[in-house]
Amino acid sequence: MNRVTMKKLRILLLITLSLSVSAVQASDDKLQVLATIHPLALLAASVVPAEQLQVLLPPTIDPHHFALKPSDIDQLQEADIILWGGPLAEPYLTGFVRRWPEKNWIDISSFASADQPVNAHYWLSVPVMTATQESLAEALGSSAGDFADTMDKARQQIDALLTPLRERGFLVYHRAYDHWVSENHLNQLGSFTINPEQKPGLKTLSTLRGLIQEGSVTCIFYEPGVSAEMIRGFTGDHPVRLLELDPMGADISLIPDGYPYFMTELARRAASCLSGTDTTSLHTGGKG
Ligand SMILES: [Zn+2]
Repeated sequence: MNRVTMKKLRILLLITLSLSVSAVQASDDKLQVLATIHPLALLAASVVPAEQLQVLLPPTIDPHHFALKPSDIDQLQEADIILWGGPLAEPYLTGFVRRWPEKNWIDISSFASADQPVNAHYWLSVPVMTATQESLAEALGSSAGDFADTMDKARQQIDALLTPLRERGFLVYHRAYDHWVSENHLNQLGSFTINPEQKPGLKTLSTLRGLIQEGSVTCIFYEPGVSAEMIRGFTGDHPVRLLELDPMGADISLIPDGYPYFMTELARRAASCLSGTDTTSLHTGGKG
């Protein structure tokens, strides 16, 4: 090797060293946030810059009985702040909370009030998520920004949409919406199943059929992964509307107002079905 090559090699080595030092410094300065499921990432995007935010599960996954892969565990290990759904929604994470107490685990269910329903889907509770957002901003050492104001405005829109429809009875496919139902004082009459991975039981189906036959049900909210034809087969000729609602907000992108938009869209879609303005779904079972 001649002297010129040696010199080049030394320079290259120095550059590599300084690059890796700055990479370590960058990851020290900027806390890495991992949101375990999509709706939590929608909230986190209000305060976490895109380059510091990762999401553990794919957007469409409702975390019932999810099994972590080794690559998921690596992601957990690399995060400084982990925003998660709590032990009821994500039991597979409780072991890691104990294993890595030095990480900042923000459990959204810890912000629930004592009079809230006990239901794993705490991300559908606006007060829970507003308190979570403040706590996340504090953990990042930044301001919560105008999130609470944006959420207040969304709240007013949601009220205007849903308040006139409080009496309208509806069914949901799986029992995801209890927080949303109780905060908006809605008339949820039943669900096909508690867990989307369990098939509806015969007794449940018979109760639901009774409600449909007596004309109490205006609308059925099914969800991604459930066939509208199957639900239509169940309702038969009864004038019940069908609409797909997604408790994970999988179609909504990670923009700063993603969570308020998710809640407003949920209300808008539900209102279209409950108010009967969505005439297509009555006949075709389409998305409306
Ligand atoms: Zn669920």
